[in-house]
Amino acid sequence: MQGSEDMARRLLARDRAALARLISWAENADPRYPAVLSAIYPEVGRAWRIGITGPPGCGKSTLTNAMVEHLRRRDLEVGVLAIDPSSPFSGGALLGDRIRMEERTADTGVYIRSMASRDSHGGLARAAADACDVMDAFGFGAILMETVGVGQSEYDVVAAADTVVVVLCPGAGDGIQAMKAGILEVADVLVVNKDDLDGADQLVLDLEDSIRMRDIRRSGGGDWDVPVVACSALHERGVDAVLAAIDAHRVHLEAGDLEAVRRSKRVAQVRRVVGERLAEVLWGEGRNTERVDSLLGKSITPYDVAEEILASVLQGTESHGLEGAKPHRS
Ligand code: GDP
Repeated sequence: MQGSEDMARRLLARDRAALARLISWAENADPRYPAVLSAIYPEVGRAWRIGITGPPGCGKSTLTNAMVEHLRRRDLEVGVLAIDPSSPFSGGALLGDRIRMEERTADTGVYIRSMASRDSHGGLARAAADACDVMDAFGFGAILMETVGVGQSEYDVVAAADTVVVVLCPGAGDGIQAMKAGILEVADVLVVNKDDLDGADQLVLDLEDSIRMRDIRRSGGGDWDVPVVACSALHERGVDAVLAAIDAHRVHLEAGDLEAVRRSKRVAQVRRVVGERLAEVLWGEGRNTERVDSLLGKSITPYDVAEEILASVLQGTESHGLEGAKPHRS
């Protein structure tokens, strides 16, 4: 498509204006983006993608900042994507102040971009993955995706990363909340930040117990032992250990079939997005609710009602909302 080829060429020539523009195309699901992706795809796959998630206030932002410093000392160029699904779409600069990295903006080895969601249905996860592809093709060695909070949309975003870092901290029942939210299952590396505060040692022990009890070893074929690393991002203590754990995870994945792991993450992402979209299509705007109600009134079991709803939807005879479904890319 007109314009796409030129933009792809400029990106690969490391033109930062093209980088910014193409991330906007990704963010807006611009119809020119798919052609760009095809053109840059051979250059995608070299960056290590690190997802950073966890409850608000646990120090993700501070840790991201510290990690960028450390990665820069290794001479790696770093792209940072700050993601806030709760905010209205902003066009990009919303979280700039939150990341507190102004001092870094003069450093051309770091690129910081914020991204917020204006729609649901996996739109943010798709946009974030696309933005990572653009940064990857541009040539960043490491890409950090940091979420503001922890929830389904954040999960969808970080689950596509190569290494998912879950940051917890002592106090306010955050650890317990996180465990309830099933966040441990997505973690490749668990970080207990604020280890200068009381309760950090206990949280480390609790998390190690939970990991043992649940036998959480899902990443990379199921034989990765999720480490729990304590640090203080604020005091820049233990940040090396966090990066060492990420490195170890990378070595672990690369020793196996990294492409297969990446592919299975993409498959899982597609399935999740399709599942959410289907639920929306079935139940959105009150669709099928009355029908379920009236069927239940005939004293058939919920299982029978479910089967009947499914059968009628599959036959296309029931309201399914697909008429109004808009694709994300036009
Ligand atoms: P986020 O919401 O998870 O991104 O958390 P922030 O990085 O914004 O940090 C929340 C607050 O925790 C800020 O006031 C930080 O200064 C503070 N903080 C971050 N790391 C540490 C730490 O290691 N120890 C202590 N005591 N405070 C920290």
